[in-house]
Amino acid sequence: MRLCVLGSGSSGNALLLDTGEGLLLVDCGLLWRDLRARAERAGFSLRELRFVYVTHEHADHVRGLESLMRRGVRVVGSPGTLAALGVKGIPATPGLELLGLRLFPIPLSHDARQPTGLRLELNGQRIGIVTDLGRVTPSVTEMVKGCEILVFETNHDLGMLLSGPYPWPLKMRILGPFGHLANDEAAQALKSLRDWAKTVFLAHLSQENNTPSLALETVARAMGSWEGHLFLTYPDRPSVVVSGG
Ligand SMILES: [Zn+2]
Ligand SMILES: [Zn+2]
Repeated sequence: MRLCVLGSGSSGNALLLDTGEGLLLVDCGLLWRDLRARAERAGFSLRELRFVYVTHEHADHVRGLESLMRRGVRVVGSPGTLAALGVKGIPATPGLELLGLRLFPIPLSHDARQPTGLRLELNGQRIGIVTDLGRVTPSVTEMVKGCEILVFETNHDLGMLLSGPYPWPLKMRILGPFGHLANDEAAQALKSLRDWAKTVFLAHLSQENNTPSLALETVARAMGSWEGHLFLTYPDRPSVVVSGG
């Protein structure tokens, strides 16, 4: 198994997972040439790309979807997300098996039709992916408990957002229960998951209302003497590649 976050944030989200039986992309907010270039840079060939799981229909998650479909990549997502996109894909049901992994959608609190995160299980290894959520509900925590690899939203620093340039209604949307997750909220949730988590990626950072070092420091402080690995993700380049299993 190899995993890489090819891009993250409002400029385009895409996470690539090689299960050994083929490639699964989670979200496709990057256009084809960019997606392919970043995949190659990270050591993946998109010839093996079979499925794309779409977490929700916002443009930063689906911008490159059409070109993938033209290339025969099958779309997977919640029934609401598929309907919102007008796409005939594979409805994601709990335990759905793809490329040797089992997939469990996680209902998220976000302003889209039926947004989901993911828990993936592959050869006993568990991966949790939760970005684009306004609140970490108890059911989200329950679903990602036990995951060794976590991709977690750290969207904004509360102080930067409040004093920043965004108009008030947009600030309220981001802060609200259906918006995006603050560094502090992510840090508290991650603290409760640190007994299991070995690798954590911080994702979907705002370029206006956050800095990579603020996100890292906030989470690292909450994790205390945790001995795992904390990695950033980037709007314009791939993250590190982690492998295992
Ligand atoms: Zn969104
Ligand atoms: Zn997003």
